[in-house]
Amino acid sequence: MPVAATCPVHGPFASRAYHHVSSIDVQMSGNVESCPRCGRVAQVMEGAFNFDRTGFAEALVAPAWSRYALREVQADVQQLANAAEDRSLSDDDFERLADAIANRIGARDRRLGESIASQIRGKPRNIVLAFALGLVTLLGMISDGVSGGRLTYAFVEWAVHQVFGS
Ligand SMILES: [Zn+2]
Repeated sequence: MPVAATCPVHGPFASRAYHHVSSIDVQMSGNVESCPRCGRVAQVMEGAFNFDRTGFAEALVAPAWSRYALREVQADVQQLANAAEDRSLSDDDFERLADAIANRIGARDRRLGESIASQIRGKPRNIVLAFALGLVTLLGMISDGVSGGRLTYAFVEWAVHQVFGS
């Protein structure tokens, strides 16, 4: 993920004020910037991060923001499950919605979005439903079980593959 800030109304967005490249163990706390959509004060993600050459962060210790982001992803996957169950949605409409949800998750973390998309693309809705419900449960377990320490999307992706194969 890039450095992210979280508007209380509009959720996470990529920071324009904070950018780190090729840095180890960057401590971030107490930073704020304004939401690009509404101007509200948005808290910049906190914790300790390594940043690679492209400015992407690996969380070393970032429990609060990561748990928040995880809950956001969990809500997206729950929406996918609800859509799979919604008989009033045509298969075509469902596929478009599923793509949009995978893209939204991909906007937070490209690899996780691609991983989820590859699990649901072209699959029957009952299979997508089973996958989504399993993933919601898994994300809830991870979110509830982590009180600190290492929690990254890479870990979430790894857990997804452990449970669902690839
Ligand atoms: Zn906002």
